Amino acid sequence: MQNIIYVYLGIALLFIIISIAFKLEGERKSVFVSLGFAIIFVLFYFLLQLFEVKVQINSTIAFLIISFVVVIVLLIPSRNKNHIPAGKVTTQFDERDIMFSRNELIPETERFDEYYKRNPDKKPLDDKFREKPGLLSDKATKYHPFKFASAEANFMTVEAFVPYKKEHIHREKQEVNPKDLSNYIKKWLKQIGAVSVGITELKDYHLYSVKGRGEEYGKKIKNNHPFAIAFTVEMDKDMLDMAPNAETIMESSQQYLNAGNIAVQLAMFIRNLGYSALPHFDGNYQVICPVVARDAGLGEFGRMGLLMTPELGPRVRVGVVTTDIPLVIDEYKYEPSVIDFCTICKKCADNCPSRAIMFEPMQEIGGVVRWKINHEACFTYWNIVGTDCGKCIQVCPYAHPNNLLHNLVRSGIKNSYIFANVALKMDDIFYGRKPDNKHYLSPLS
Ligand code: SF4
Ligand code: SF4
Repeated sequence: MQNIIYVYLGIALLFIIISIAFKLEGERKSVFVSLGFAIIFVLFYFLLQLFEVKVQINSTIAFLIISFVVVIVLLIPSRNKNHIPAGKVTTQFDERDIMFSRNELIPETERFDEYYKRNPDKKPLDDKFREKPGLLSDKATKYHPFKFASAEANFMTVEAFVPYKKEHIHREKQEVNPKDLSNYIKKWLKQIGAVSVGITELKDYHLYSVKGRGEEYGKKIKNNHPFAIAFTVEMDKDMLDMAPNAETIMESSQQYLNAGNIAVQLAMFIRNLGYSALPHFDGNYQVICPVVARDAGLGEFGRMGLLMTPELGPRVRVGVVTTDIPLVIDEYKYEPSVIDFCTICKKCADNCPSRAIMFEPMQEIGGVVRWKINHEACFTYWNIVGTDCGKCIQVCPYAHPNNLLHNLVRSGIKNSYIFANVALKMDDIFYGRKPDNKHYLSPLS
């Protein structure tokens, strides 16, 4: 019975093991915090030695009972009683309104004048980002000659995919079993680098109404494919941990390239079976990829406006292929725990250097309950630093590595609103409310 007080040393050992897990992740602050907890339990053990055995045993039993009750409370499924469901935007969006399209408008050209004649309210906002050095500019505050050149090389390489947009079905149509084919595509895409894959019916609101980039600028988008296959690829954690430095844009451009590569492979595969397929990749989208991915069951939209996936939160890029090959669609199932967690978390809003992310609860915007990003403020900041920032992705508690420790926390958040509140507090304690950059960790320094 006396040995019962060794329980404190056992818990201290558990925290040492957790600190090793954090060390492997390169999380210096978390290592110190875990070791701090381990030391507290060791000290508590020695403190109890000062008391008589009966006191030691009784206080340890009380500690174990309280711990047991806490664990049970955290494991019981619970929901936020005040949950407000997120709405779905089902109207089409004009690609000419996205920041990348507006960024490509050249002053004193017909296209520039025509756009701002139709959208005079956007002119003063866009003038602000045009005053700044610009994305990948050598005048930007995070300029690094090699790293910016690498990111630019990635974007230039994506251009090599453009010829694959052209439909070229060179084989006879084969009979396919939609179920077998859907399973095969999911397994194959994961094998070549996707983290998650989902299939949905292609809806009008998945498609931009009008092209806003490239040679087809201003043309109405037509796509009669009945299906869309969406997939995610992981953005490297160590690179994102350098946000908003050059590593972020290196990594996002790298994953645009990887997503584009997988999309082209998949489209070619489908064409080899005699069906029509279109790969969507950076600068050449007909669809709004995250909206397709949400409907394909790959995640929900969080406070920062990005797709929050169960595996990696927002630390992904999304690729899409639209097609007419017969497939089995995945049911979209609304996941309220993401919205509940984002409602209490606000870590991305706290850390956003441009204050582009709302602190308020979701609001009805254009008839749909959701969070809205101030895209102009965000993009203006990108044009100052020269990168795509990514600070919001870096600090998001859902963006931790896809490993046992974090997956247990993710399942706890999904299961219990009480657990979610505790997990958020623990995230702040272990990682900090405003986590630092990890310059010492850059894989490129
Ligand atoms: S940082 Fe927090 S509030 Fe922001 S998207 Fe992630 S979970 Fe939601
Ligand atoms: S990318 Fe940076 S500036 Fe833009 S919303 Fe995220 S944190 Fe804010």
